[in-house]
Amino acid sequence: MRVDYHIHTKLCGHAYGEMEEYVEEALRKGLNEIGFSDHIPMYFLPPEERDASIAMQESDLPIYVENVMKIREKYKPFPVKLGIEADFSPCQENKLINLIEPYDFDYVLGSVHFINEWGFDNAMFISEYDKWDLYELYERYFSLISQAAQSGLFDIMSHPDLIKKFGYRPDCDLTSLYERTAKTIADAGVCVELNTAGLRVPAVEVYPSQSFLGILCRYGVGVTLGSDAHSPEQVGENFALAVQILKEVGYDKIVTFNKRRKKYHNI
Ligand code: ZN
Ligand code: FE
Ligand code: FE
Ligand code: ZN
Repeated sequence: MRVDYHIHTKLCGHAYGEMEEYVEEALRKGLNEIGFSDHIPMYFLPPEERDASIAMQESDLPIYVENVMKIREKYKPFPVKLGIEADFSPCQENKLINLIEPYDFDYVLGSVHFINEWGFDNAMFISEYDKWDLYELYERYFSLISQAAQSGLFDIMSHPDLIKKFGYRPDCDLTSLYERTAKTIADAGVCVELNTAGLRVPAVEVYPSQSFLGILCRYGVGVTLGSDAHSPEQVGENFALAVQILKEVGYDKIVTFNKRRKKYHNI
């Protein structure tokens, strides 16, 4: 089973190409199923502070859903799922619920891209890393991931160690942090994604790292696959390596979602 559940569209303002081209690439690469999961509107900011080059506008959300539905019709019987990549923002859960509730999403990816107001995965704000003790930063990041998993809002935690994106890593052992986080995710019944986009950035490693993924596997956390494609040729990128890593750390099943219900498949 080969799925790519993390695919963007140009509605977010920083992805390229037509949705058809993303599907065609998936077909070319022999994937069995894909899902679009574009960036949800930045509900956690006042409308005037939302950056149109980071996420779709609120008025685009119904258009996005309609676009995915049209593509699903067009490529039947090839399965095209309706997903969304949603930021977690503590204490603003109700705003997110109101955005998601009107639609029949197959899955909701839960992402942490912000610590306080800092978009730590944005290369423009990279100097902010120097202000932190990196272990404290990692603790802060993983506590947000844990809270997000416990919130009940998400089906899959996307790129669950995104904080390493630019290669800022504490030089101490992260095992206990990974263990705590994995236990919370497992208790919440949430899955994680193995996201190959980490290979394209200074971290040069899939999200999550092989050591974290091994711990997640040991705790029984389900896994999906995503490329975080922002252009058509990135669909299914480095999936041979991803599958090899899944097997190496002990996974033999992959999860798919239909209207937020899980199904397990042999890898
Ligand atoms: Zn993006
Ligand atoms: Fe993301
Ligand atoms: Fe993404
Ligand atoms: Zn992403």
